[in-house]
Amino acid sequence: KQQSALEYIKAIHKQVKDRNPGESEFLQATWEVFESLRPVFEQHPEYIEESILERISEPERFINFRVTWEDDNGKVHVNRGYRVQFNSTLGPFKGGLRFHPSLTGSVVKFLGFEQIFKNALTGLPIGGGKGGSDFDPKGRSDREIMRFCQSFMTELSRHIGPDIDVPAGDIGVGKREIGYLFGQYKRIRNASEAGVFTGKNPDNGGSLIRKEATGYGTVYFVEEMLRDQGRSFAGSKVIVSGSGNVSIYAMEKAVEFGATVVACSDSEGYIYDPNGIDVETVKQLKEVGRKRIYEYLEFHPTARYGKDKSEIWKIPCDIALPCATQNEIDRESAQALVENNVKAVGEGANMPCNEEAVRMLTNNKVLFAPAKAANAGGVAVSAMEMSQNSMRYSWTSEEVDKKLQQVMKTIYKNCIETAAQYGSPGNLIIGANIAGFKKVADAMVSHGLN
Ligand code: GLU
Repeated sequence: KQQSALEYIKAIHKQVKDRNPGESEFLQATWEVFESLRPVFEQHPEYIEESILERISEPERFINFRVTWEDDNGKVHVNRGYRVQFNSTLGPFKGGLRFHPSLTGSVVKFLGFEQIFKNALTGLPIGGGKGGSDFDPKGRSDREIMRFCQSFMTELSRHIGPDIDVPAGDIGVGKREIGYLFGQYKRIRNASEAGVFTGKNPDNGGSLIRKEATGYGTVYFVEEMLRDQGRSFAGSKVIVSGSGNVSIYAMEKAVEFGATVVACSDSEGYIYDPNGIDVETVKQLKEVGRKRIYEYLEFHPTARYGKDKSEIWKIPCDIALPCATQNEIDRESAQALVENNVKAVGEGANMPCNEEAVRMLTNNKVLFAPAKAANAGGVAVSAMEMSQNSMRYSWTSEEVDKKLQQVMKTIYKNCIETAAQYGSPGNLIIGANIAGFKKVADAMVSHGLN
């Protein structure tokens, strides 16, 4: 029986491979989930009969479109826009937009696939989606960003809506971009549909704590995991890669919990200060100034700067929070962390550890908080933003933060219990994958074939 479940999984993954040739990120993410579902198929043959795995790994809809825009010198550029509407079983498609030159169909699909299970874990009524463009916002003026966003939304607007598909931010898409995108949607629809977008400015229909939610949520989740082992952030040395929304607020919460954050990074390098990074300075540089991280040294000359951002993982720490991007921790980085006796790794970014890295860490008994559970706080507060928009009401920061803490605790508990129930006590990767999958699979079975 065990053999047949594994063979089934392998056969379906081969179909996914044949249908999505060369899409390495998507194949990596699907295999990581498929592999951990073996005990589920052993216990629930109905999922095999209903072809849930085949259906869940094929997007309901995959849209790609041309985005034409004009730069400040009148030169015309063409980029590609994407939206994958992966699974709407639990609610409207929900997931961010990423603007980054590395974005491809494979990356969008991997992110959308992960989003299905992450969103299911929040317990809130949202399906999974993702989108974005290979547009590079780096060095572009405000006006260029605005024109790009308007052109992008002119096409995207026909595919989204508060009850259909609700985008949000991701890498390269923050408050400014969401403002331009939402403004263009509003102009096209001639209607007030605040719930079509989340991550909006709080004085303009956005939820308080949304900006902080992914980073705070990651720290709340990791704190739960540490507490189970008699540990905590208090007194720990922490490395947080990245310096965007996720990273900044993970650092802020870790410091609030009594940790010392010794390093963070951006796409051009990392900074290290054994006495602790000053999060306010990073915030000023990144949120206000759109500056590079090495400029931190102007304000804190005792800090050190390194050009090779992957070297950040060679710095000794107790807790590592990769909050930058996918596959930022490979086997070698994981090995460095293990050699320096890291106690816990929490994924703030999506799939920041590759397969070999995960194996290296878990084989060496490092506590591991997988992305789809650990970073679900962002999308959870997005769902709360949708609720507030529907009510035409806003909750206070304290109310939202309290709900966020509750969601993260519940996800942790759900993952731990599911892992134990399916024969892998303490394995949060298996717990998260199975708990997320089962919630969607049961709903898919109840909805009949589609
Ligand atoms: N981009 C975020 C994520 O990866 C947030 C998505 C959202 O809020 O819809 O989960």
